[in-house]
Amino acid sequence: MRRSLAPVLALSLLLPAALGAASPATPTGPALWEAWPTARVSPADPWGLKHSGLRVALADLQARHPGLITLVEEGTSAEGRQIPLLRLGSGPTGVLLWSQMHGDEPTATSALLDLMHWLGTHPQDPAVRQLLARLTLWVIPMLNPDGAERTQRWNAQGIDINRDALRLSSPEGRYLKAVRDRVQPTVGYNLHNQNPQVRAGATGAQAAMSLLSVPGDEAFSLTPGTRQTRRLAVAVDRLVQPLAQGRVARYDTDYTARAFGDAMTRWGTPTLLIETGGWAGPAEAERLVRLNFVALAGSLVALADGSLKTLDDAAYDRIPLNQRDATAALVVRHVRLASGRGLAPFPADLSFLLPGPFAGERPRLRQAVLTEIGDLDHVLGLAELDGTGLLAVPWPAPEGSDWPALKALLAARKLESTEEATVLSEAKAQGEATVAGPGYTGAVLLYRTLPGGRVQLAGAVLRGRVVGFEPR
Ligand SMILES: [Zn+2]
Repeated sequence: MRRSLAPVLALSLLLPAALGAASPATPTGPALWEAWPTARVSPADPWGLKHSGLRVALADLQARHPGLITLVEEGTSAEGRQIPLLRLGSGPTGVLLWSQMHGDEPTATSALLDLMHWLGTHPQDPAVRQLLARLTLWVIPMLNPDGAERTQRWNAQGIDINRDALRLSSPEGRYLKAVRDRVQPTVGYNLHNQNPQVRAGATGAQAAMSLLSVPGDEAFSLTPGTRQTRRLAVAVDRLVQPLAQGRVARYDTDYTARAFGDAMTRWGTPTLLIETGGWAGPAEAERLVRLNFVALAGSLVALADGSLKTLDDAAYDRIPLNQRDATAALVVRHVRLASGRGLAPFPADLSFLLPGPFAGERPRLRQAVLTEIGDLDHVLGLAELDGTGLLAVPWPAPEGSDWPALKALLAARKLESTEEATVLSEAKAQGEATVAGPGYTGAVLLYRTLPGGRVQLAGAVLRGRVVGFEPR
């Protein structure tokens, strides 16, 4: 009897693959997006989740879903924090997902918690059943707990774990390699945040997510494994596009032998890199977690139900390329800038950045800065001001001062409405600390130019934001 049943069983296992994307079990991106609020156990602020909070969240998930999540073992960080390795499912295809190897990149850690809760709360959902039957998920949320504790990229040794795949000087890197070697997963998910000043293509929107089928060699050779991660990237793009149209990019990189994704692919675990970017607006951090949840849940389902195989991996090359340093918190365009050095005012655009919780490889900003002066046509301002007809003048911004205080101070010095020449000489008299240039943190006054060489104060850029200004 058993033998005669075998072909039927095999056929039924193959059926969803044959049906491909049409499988009724495959949830769409919007369906997963709508499922997230009830799947969600992650905190409002992913950066606020530290090692102790993660352990509480994991224990809670294990208690809520008995039998779903096995704590296989724990690695140990440089400072002795335990790094849990979790296992879900029992299928033949092993998938290793690790997040936060850079301590200040927490979005996917939150999404992994939500993913596990979603799996636990939908045991009868055909897509979930199939996922747990066909895949074995190996999950390391927060590989770098010491870095997370400090909201820094590096581990406690100051090592960038993602550049430690060859030397293995960090205990966290050694642990990740040891898990890979033992488990021999078919696919890897390397989960990061990237600097949010990235656009999806040269003229695209701010990239909310960038994807990379991580190469295993200099030549970016196409192998069955890298074709699969290319298809995974295509799957993520299709899932996420209806929710974040034009906000998905292809991560640009060279092959980096000492980086973990590249090494994983080389070692035989072809890896998909997901870099969460930015999506400016209210509740940005939560929307990005939600998008990550959609990407993870949807692509894993596609891998499990076979619909992934129906995707054309060539579509990967059509995902627009990441453009770095291509957004700013504020761009003021087409002003005449009096630099503060007494030079004749010249036409320029100005860009500003604000401090955020994430800095990547750069030092974290302590305050808002002017980042660039000149032709910024390629830069997308998350806020923009058309400064046509305005004279921009750097001016000291005493700590804690607001626009009314600044305005009162200028009025007291009779600089609210005056000759342009007077403003220029007063600005020059402020000295070298009040010269507009990359890294400048003071205010920039914005004067309307009036006939007869006169100017009228209209507003300012104060700590990276436009104040006082009312367009006419
Ligand atoms: Zn990273």
